[in-house]
Amino acid sequence: MTVGTSIPLAKPSVGPREEELVLEVMRSGILSLGPMGRRFEEAFAAYVGTEHACAVSSGTAGLHLAVRLAGVGPGDEVITSPFSFVASANCALYEGATPVFADIDPVSLNLDPAAVEAAISPRTKAVVAVHIFGLPCDIEAINALAARHGLAVVEDAAEAVGARRRGRMVGTHGNPAVFAFYPNKQMTTGEGGMVTTDDPELHAQLKSLSNQGRSDAGDWLEHDRLGWNYRLDDVSAAIGLGQVERLDEILAARAAVADRYGELLRSTAGVTPPAVVDGDERSWFVYPVLLDPGVDRNAVMAQLQGEGIACKPYLPAIHLQPFYRARGHRPGELPVCESVSARSLALPFFAGLDADDQARVVDALRRALDAVA
Ligand SMILES: *Cc1c(COP(=O)(O)O)cnc(C)c1O
Repeated sequence: MTVGTSIPLAKPSVGPREEELVLEVMRSGILSLGPMGRRFEEAFAAYVGTEHACAVSSGTAGLHLAVRLAGVGPGDEVITSPFSFVASANCALYEGATPVFADIDPVSLNLDPAAVEAAISPRTKAVVAVHIFGLPCDIEAINALAARHGLAVVEDAAEAVGARRRGRMVGTHGNPAVFAFYPNKQMTTGEGGMVTTDDPELHAQLKSLSNQGRSDAGDWLEHDRLGWNYRLDDVSAAIGLGQVERLDEILAARAAVADRYGELLRSTAGVTPPAVVDGDERSWFVYPVLLDPGVDRNAVMAQLQGEGIACKPYLPAIHLQPFYRARGHRPGELPVCESVSARSLALPFFAGLDADDQARVVDALRRALDAVA
């Protein structure tokens, strides 16, 4: 118990196994494009259950490549969720396309397939389907409407490693899926990401594009196409391999913390804990509660922060970010997303969060809610 001391919002779970693997890379002298990168990719593909996995320098880099390989270009539109991290929309802009936002389901907080279908225009090329907060979106419906309209689907699984949709692991629904390993995610490599696919040709293109457009067969200095340096180095891959080995244990520890919050919040008026969707298994990424309409979130946050408890308004609507407002977006466009993002509040959440600290968080939250009522 850490009475009076501060409780962070997130904290990575790294230990002796990761240290051992990092040392192995350092002592090998091969710090990039070595065997550790390959081992990490193979272990990750095996975990998710795809044929291939291409390690990249960040989730954002992975999204960029996946969108580019979907054939998205200038003048195209890419439909995505406004209730996500900004990269799921920015990846369309990187290729000169326009992100088009479709509103979300008020319970799952994921893209509403009917809203996606309504947003389709003759210029629509692809859908970036986000699995927000580790809860799978309705990927069957999105795949089906994409097939009907001839659209590509990219899955933004940056927050959903290990999540299952109707028993099936996220990443195995026939689309390239992008995972991310920033230190606040379920597993980390420091910075890093991964793109999974069953398609060997797509995988080869991902490898090439992330490695300066080099061909597999060709010379080191032979570049077949425009590429980027989106490689993941082997020190980061070593951390990642250790994390994959421990991923079941890490996810179970996070689920235990989430269950405890659920118990503690059961009798707390004024907040709604994250939704449970029958048949789907959330991979716990963050613990965002929804405050009742009308509750002064800033006042609640100020009180928690004053007691050393980190919390964040998670997530702000992408279309209302200054950069997107400057592109012409306005409040009122996406009412469900706007209502949710005005009321959501992420509480401290990580594997190993102390039970007493959780009680302290919920106690402080209750008092804050009483004070602002
Ligand atoms: C974290 C995140 C990303 C970006 O990943 P980075 O590794 O930080 O570039 C993309 N989409 C979502 C939904 C995320 O949460």
